[in-house]
Amino acid sequence: MKKPFSLILLFSLLRLVSANAGTNLFDFTSPSLDPTDTVPYFLNEEDVPSYHDTLGFSPAFDLYSEWDTDKIHYTKFDINSLKDSSKKITLCDSNSCGYVQPFLGKVTCPFGPRRRYYHYGVDIDLETGDAVAAAFDGKVRIAKKSSSYGNVVVIRHSNGLETYYAHLSKINVEAGQEIFAGDVIGLGGNTGHSRGSHLHFEVRYLGQPINPADIISFTEDKLLSDTLVVNKQTFKYLVKGKKGANTENCGKLIAGNIYVIKKGDSLSTIAKRYGTSISSLCKKNGLKTTTILRLGQKIKI
Ligand SMILES: [Zn+2]
Repeated sequence: MKKPFSLILLFSLLRLVSANAGTNLFDFTSPSLDPTDTVPYFLNEEDVPSYHDTLGFSPAFDLYSEWDTDKIHYTKFDINSLKDSSKKITLCDSNSCGYVQPFLGKVTCPFGPRRRYYHYGVDIDLETGDAVAAAFDGKVRIAKKSSSYGNVVVIRHSNGLETYYAHLSKINVEAGQEIFAGDVIGLGGNTGHSRGSHLHFEVRYLGQPINPADIISFTEDKLLSDTLVVNKQTFKYLVKGKKGANTENCGKLIAGNIYVIKKGDSLSTIAKRYGTSISSLCKKNGLKTTTILRLGQKIKI
């Protein structure tokens, strides 16, 4: 009778020690900081994720029915398929209202038509190396290098919107990563089709670009509304046509309409971009038309 009692006592002691240490004495795997290692191998029935829970792994999967971590753009939907009844997208509710401005800088180029193309986002002025933050909670779908966007991150949000962050000098995240609003997803830069360091920021719904200024006040660093109504009006720019020169200033301007000379700039290209003339630029800056511009030189527009 004594031996079994001793064994029971020994096992009870071992269990007590292991419970206090928070570890399993019979677990000989090396310790790891990976939180996934703490997931038990055998789940109780009530711990098995339900179908509803799995939707959390791929935001707005019911809308997109796909999760492509290579193809940047989701095939655009036909806006004519939009019913007259508007669809309301929640930007901010009791569960999540964490909008964070991706970068606090001046918008140097708004959404809209340009001479030869359509600008599907807003450009925010920054310096290479400045931290770029996620605008909303979500999951990284794209984190890669593209010839046009340069280093680009695309985050899909549970309300169906996707936000794009382009021309980054460095990407800090990887596809599949859960992101909270304000997380630094990369550093600003000048990669891809870009003239001067800036952040190109896009908001899309089912692949179709939405003017970010329809939902965000970039000067006040806040959302304009808790909801976004998606209807044909949201995409009226497509109906109007994409042509039409827009003389909005698009380029790297700093406070007081000062432009910093970049590689490839000339008085004529700057004058064209800002809708001014070479003679006006010369007059304002005490230059001659033959003056050779230096990289980094600041001139008044
Ligand atoms: Zn842009």
